[in-house]
Amino acid sequence: MEMRRIVVLTGAGVSAESGIKTFRDADGLWENYKIEDVATPEAWKRNPSLVLDFYNQRRKKVLEVNPNAAHYSLVELEKNFHVNIITQNIDNLHERAGSKNVLHLHGEITKSRSTNNHKLIYPIEGWQLNIDECCELGSQLRPHIVWFGEQVPEMENSIPLVQMADIVIVIGTSLAVYPAAGLIMYAKKDAEKFLIDPASVPYDRIFNLRIIRDTACKAVPQLVNDLLK
Ligand code: NAD
Repeated sequence: MEMRRIVVLTGAGVSAESGIKTFRDADGLWENYKIEDVATPEAWKRNPSLVLDFYNQRRKKVLEVNPNAAHYSLVELEKNFHVNIITQNIDNLHERAGSKNVLHLHGEITKSRSTNNHKLIYPIEGWQLNIDECCELGSQLRPHIVWFGEQVPEMENSIPLVQMADIVIVIGTSLAVYPAAGLIMYAKKDAEKFLIDPASVPYDRIFNLRIIRDTACKAVPQLVNDLLK
């Protein structure tokens, strides 16, 4: 028998208990930085050192922390299901926990990309990417991140996965950043849907949705256990 398909949509909340700040919560990252200063193509043009420094700090943090119980329990699902994780996160905690199929909608902090050819992507050794570090064509490298105002190329790979899913699990996202927030709309009407978030997320118009108002480290292992039974 073919395995049932699960798609897991994750946001900053799944990594919060690892010690990585979310964006929009009180004391979130954006309290201390303005999006337009560090996470847009215009910011990069205006002040590339500031942008590199911002992401260097984020990268340093990511390398210091570890996956948590939520990341690890999602790996267990692969025993009985075909699992795809679609994350808005730029950290690599799903991979480090052991998840096999992880798609990053907003890029990956541990990689750099040529400013001349977007297909040239490189791993970053250590935590720093600096001015004058260049791709093989001699152009400045930028963080491999989707900035506000840029296209989200992985949407086209994500939509069919959501459409095929028998079960969709949404974890720790305020569902405020499009197009990622719209992905759940592609799920089959009768697909089982779960939303795990301690805050109330305005998502009541979705059919067959169970809302679990709790933190990822508590709720995800429980849900995974239930699904594996
Ligand atoms: P967000 O900050 O907008 O929302 C975070 C959500 O997580 C909130 O709904 C909050 O209630 C919930 N949350 C907080 N603590 C939680 C916990 N312990 N368990 C479960 N849920 C918890 O984040 P978002 O929706 O992912 O925002 C989108 C943008 O933020 C994306 O562009 C994403 O790339 C970026 N981002 C990524 C990281 C990362 O890579 N780790 C961190 C911060 C932000």
